[in-house]
Amino acid sequence: MNDVRYENDIRALLMAFFPGEKIVLDDVRFQPDKMMDVTYKDGRAAFCFTDGTDRMEDETDLLDADYRMGKNQIKTAVYDMLCRWTGHTLPWGTLTGIRPTKIPMAFYDEGRGVKEADAYLEKMYKVSESKRRLCTQVAANEKKILDTIPFGEDISLYIGIPFCPTICLYCSFSSFPLKVWERKVPTYLGALFKEMDAVAKMIGGRKITTVYMGGGTPTSLSVSQMDRLLSHIEETFDLSSVREFTVEAGRPDSLDERKLKAIRDHGIRRVSINPQTMNQKTLDIIGRRHTALQVEKAFYMAREAGFSNINMDLIMGLPGEDTEDVARTLDGVRRLSPDSMTVHSLAVKRASRLNQNLEAYPPAPPRTVDRMIEMSWEAAQDMGMIPYYLYRQKNISGNLENVGYARPGYEGIYNILIMEEKQTIVALGAGGSSKIVYPEENRIERIENVKNVKDYMERIDEMIQRKRKLLG
Ligand code: SF4
Repeated sequence: MNDVRYENDIRALLMAFFPGEKIVLDDVRFQPDKMMDVTYKDGRAAFCFTDGTDRMEDETDLLDADYRMGKNQIKTAVYDMLCRWTGHTLPWGTLTGIRPTKIPMAFYDEGRGVKEADAYLEKMYKVSESKRRLCTQVAANEKKILDTIPFGEDISLYIGIPFCPTICLYCSFSSFPLKVWERKVPTYLGALFKEMDAVAKMIGGRKITTVYMGGGTPTSLSVSQMDRLLSHIEETFDLSSVREFTVEAGRPDSLDERKLKAIRDHGIRRVSINPQTMNQKTLDIIGRRHTALQVEKAFYMAREAGFSNINMDLIMGLPGEDTEDVARTLDGVRRLSPDSMTVHSLAVKRASRLNQNLEAYPPAPPRTVDRMIEMSWEAAQDMGMIPYYLYRQKNISGNLENVGYARPGYEGIYNILIMEEKQTIVALGAGGSSKIVYPEENRIERIENVKNVKDYMERIDEMIQRKRKLLG
């Protein structure tokens, strides 16, 4: 490499062709084997090296017109070479971005149709027929919902509860084991309430479209803590225009009838109960510490409590799983018949325990993961669901994708909003990442809260101040 600007794209392609391999790019300028990351912010590019040093460059120099035009040609050339060398292609071709639906969405916004978007994805990025179909279909389904949302000044809220019963092998979220942090939960909630009170003043009369409580596992809170939290949200914000309020109830080992009833008593209808897999041996490997039977019981408990919109998250390519395991999981989900299902391809994140144990848990071959994804699409169709949101992540299995399926009318609106970045989302709590959207300027500003719970509690005034700069 003699131009570091292409590093991320070339690396992403190499990783897709050679999953699990260590990739070292020899760079004459930056010694990239020592380079950890490059981020772009406020018109500057920040290079971060393993020895702790940083180096800044003007983004205008890095992202000039030649770069933009050349990038796709260079990626295509490298892609063609790797295809010839390995003898296979990639389902998403040269596309390495995390929001592929933005491409067809731009076509639809200009009044152009599916055929044109499809042809563009094929010509420009060499995307396979099945992924083009998925991508154009998802964008069309998203658009139907986005067209019903008044963006303008309206916003959505994210509320983060960063505690979990145990930490999963693949987890890279802001999540802390409840056993260790239990005594600090009231202090955390106190800081969160302070942030909520301040944000409510900052947003003034702006209407709220959706509220999403995630984490972590929010249902790790006790019944009385959950009740207090939901009461505080109701007292602080005007929820009269909210179209969707979701509480992540991801871990069945955090649920009981009383807690579900307490959530339901606050008028919430949508929860997400996430098995990830229905195979006990895998649940044990990934450290979930609950059984497949508990998933079923939690699901029926939630239905009994009156939740009319239940999502289930699954992961394809979990350690040791083959297509038979996935078939068993999908059969289990079919029996429960949730209203929506989100299917992730396993992503090996740098901060996860999985990343440190890759030798013990080698990734599944990309073709196997792709087959698993096809199987999940077939299962979604059997349950009367359509694909309605889609995103990709860095280091995702087989360079594939995560897809949300839902029965029509049960799509997770918040999921679409966060993917398409058309509405401001204000995120509260440790690890919360707010996105302030300026549609007229086609610009997004981010405000990050610190991830660490202790730092969040100690620096809550600073977190509020950060928000005040853009929201106030
Ligand atoms: S339940 Fe989710 S947030 Fe909690 S440890 Fe597992 S992956 Fe992380």
